[in-house]
Amino acid sequence: MRKIASWQSIIDKIQSKLQAWKSSCLSRAGRLTLIKAVLNSLPIYYLSLFSMPKKVTKEIIRLQRRFLWNVDKTGRVLPLVKWEIVQQPKCKCGLGVGDLVIKNTALLFKWWWRYASEENSLWRKVVQSIHNEDAAILPSSSLSKIPGTWHSIKKTLLEQKPATQLFFQHLKLSVGNGNKVRFWEDQWAGNFSLKEKFPSLFRLSTQKSAMVSAMGWFEGTLWKWSLAWKKELSQQEAELMANLIDLLSHHFPLPTQEDSITWKGKKEYSAKIPQHLLNMEMEVEVDRMVCSVWMKLVPPKVEFFMWLALLGKLNTKEMLYKKGLLSANQTSCTFCGSHLESLDHVLLHCPFSWRVWNSIADDLGQKLVSHSTFKQFYNACLSVQWRSKGLKKIWVSTLFAVSWRLWMVRNELIFQGKELNLAEVYHSIRWRVAEWTRAWKAKPPYKVDDLARNFSTIPAIMQ
Ligand SMILES: [Zn+2]
Repeated sequence: MRKIASWQSIIDKIQSKLQAWKSSCLSRAGRLTLIKAVLNSLPIYYLSLFSMPKKVTKEIIRLQRRFLWNVDKTGRVLPLVKWEIVQQPKCKCGLGVGDLVIKNTALLFKWWWRYASEENSLWRKVVQSIHNEDAAILPSSSLSKIPGTWHSIKKTLLEQKPATQLFFQHLKLSVGNGNKVRFWEDQWAGNFSLKEKFPSLFRLSTQKSAMVSAMGWFEGTLWKWSLAWKKELSQQEAELMANLIDLLSHHFPLPTQEDSITWKGKKEYSAKIPQHLLNMEMEVEVDRMVCSVWMKLVPPKVEFFMWLALLGKLNTKEMLYKKGLLSANQTSCTFCGSHLESLDHVLLHCPFSWRVWNSIADDLGQKLVSHSTFKQFYNACLSVQWRSKGLKKIWVSTLFAVSWRLWMVRNELIFQGKELNLAEVYHSIRWRVAEWTRAWKAKPPYKVDDLARNFSTIPAIMQ
């Protein structure tokens, strides 16, 4: 399975599910849902057994990117946001697409875990005999020369990339009678192996592959260590040995217990947890405001739009100019025609947009204060206090509705040649907010019509 050809059927399946025609029929939020669904279902079987070659990962990501973002006439993808961000979970400002390499490693690690926890299974016995594994709970850290699935799983995990390191960190061996724990190689006396901690002593040991139980004996109930060396220890080595014995005074075999293993303190391993853990432990600068958009108050496509807006990634004329797709004389605002069409201008500062904002806020009894950026304005609006949760939800939905509608109107003017109609914009914003309330768990006790037609009475009627 190291060959790309072996993975072709998976690539083909993903390609057929993520075809361009489907992309053009779906909103970005719809495309995102499909990307996640296809990825979560298709290659799990392969990913659980085989290490995905880098080229295959790249190809799958290429297909996902093409599906999510638009493609120009020459077939070039025009991404609005870097894929590394898209992959991250929503609580880390991403879209939660997930990282294929992490998923693959988490699923492969399950075999490490199963090897350790299914001691009497036939497959483990077969692997042990073919690959010369000893009787220890965990697989050894050496690779046999015999190729095959086990060899490649082990190789991938032993490479200890950042992703794998985390899996090993949470794997804890508890020494019981010490019959199945390797003294030098396994991590049983701390977050390290004694081989790594005392390399010079390991080199001198004549018991390199011995289990803990073979490294001493019980004198009554007291455990006595008996370490054997190739030669007499020098003074420096004797000091190291004293350190080692000191360390071992806290870790020693217990005659009545079996050696055991846990993962994050549990006796079960779930491939979902490490993915979640890795996502959580990844050091990413988190912008709380960007993460706040997924409130489930408005349709996913509107949340997606706000996510882009707060990341500053809308394709405004200013942005297109910066990307070299428009010339300097094509960058004036679609609404007023007299300013540069930046994101902050078109969604907030433009006289037309500001009129829309004020008119809708007036209805809800709010006086707006402009801010230098749209993002600051969004934040200020989110912090407005309301006397009831229902009102706050209407207010936040209105914030999304106005922003989204302004952007839609701007696009309709450019791409459909429509005319600017202030009354129609007000009207459509009110109706949208009213319609969206239908999808809430706690719906307001009013009909959509009533809410939309009597928008300005909402603060009075909703307690
Ligand atoms: Zn303007």
